[in-house]
Amino acid sequence: MSNELLRVAAAKLKKAIPLMLKHHIPTTPTNYALWYAYVGQGRPELNRQLDEVVTQYHTCPPSHSERLHQTYFADPVELDVIDMRQNLDAMVTELSQSLKDTNSDAHQYQSKINTNFDKLNKIENEGFSIDEVLSLVKNLVSDAFDIKNSTQHFTEQLAHAQSEIEQLKYQLKQSEHEMYFDALTCALNRRAFNKDIRGLVNQSPEGLCLIIADIDHFKVFNDTYGHQLGDQVLKAVTRRLDESCKEGTKLYRFGGEEFAILVPKSQLNRVRQLADSMRRSLEKLVLKDKRKDQRVDNIRASFGVAQYQEHDTDSSLIERAAKQLYEAKRLGRNRVMPMSH
Ligand code: GH3
Ligand code: MG
Ligand code: MG
Repeated sequence: MSNELLRVAAAKLKKAIPLMLKHHIPTTPTNYALWYAYVGQGRPELNRQLDEVVTQYHTCPPSHSERLHQTYFADPVELDVIDMRQNLDAMVTELSQSLKDTNSDAHQYQSKINTNFDKLNKIENEGFSIDEVLSLVKNLVSDAFDIKNSTQHFTEQLAHAQSEIEQLKYQLKQSEHEMYFDALTCALNRRAFNKDIRGLVNQSPEGLCLIIADIDHFKVFNDTYGHQLGDQVLKAVTRRLDESCKEGTKLYRFGGEEFAILVPKSQLNRVRQLADSMRRSLEKLVLKDKRKDQRVDNIRASFGVAQYQEHDTDSSLIERAAKQLYEAKRLGRNRVMPMSH
């Protein structure tokens, strides 16, 4: 953050905190985000809704904060997945409840039938009238029906729920896949990268290295051979880079023709060497389109490498790697920066 940005942020917080105190708002990250946005006045609709809630409740109850936060800040794709998870949980709960209900129904019928059998025994011992026997048999038949219906109902419910659960599970898997993977190259996407780098910086930052790679003059491939072949180049580059990623090292499509590679617990020089071997393997890449008699064998890329330093955040680490990448471009492309020492 530049000094100017920092100054604006501090000024906003200075305004937000007294407001939060005044309205008895707990100081959670969610609430900070809401009230920070409130004093920023960038979203009039959010301000209007917050004002309304505060007028009504004289504070902002957590459920309202959560809802407003979801509406104005959360990522809709992530919300979809959360929503689907909750549906799945609800289905399983419902199913186990109806299993319990059916069990207790069955117990009740069982005890009714036992009573009827007891009565039948008594009749056998003490003599009987035809009416008494008939009424007992009637009861037994009706109980048997109830059991049959209840079981049948449950079986139907079970089958229905099971198919719905299967469908939800499948959809969930699809959505989670779409959420974290790029559709064109099938590499992990930027969202996955953001999540992973944040996790690594927070939990095990020592030795964490980041490579950012950018294909050189990629626009020329598109302009010369067409966008479709450009796509083929992106796919081939992804496969090639991925082949160089050993256990623990992950490749992401960072943007259009940019890739990021996260290498946990390593050394800058080793990762620099890894980047250079990736660079050389791309040089050897040959793409052939037999139908059009085209051959692409001039794929080059520039690489910027950075290692985690104390007090780094995810964005400061990315910024350093991006700066090195920029240097590599500036010095003539098709190289890794910083140079080895
Ligand atoms: P430099 O060496 O400076 O990186 O030059 P460059 O041409 O690679 O960089 P520039 O940013 O000018 O162009 C990137 C191009 O990548 C522009 C854009 O159309 C193309 N691109 C981005 N995403 C895709 C994609 O998914 N498929 C295809 N075919 N092209 C893409
Ligand atoms: Mg680029
Ligand atoms: Mg480029």
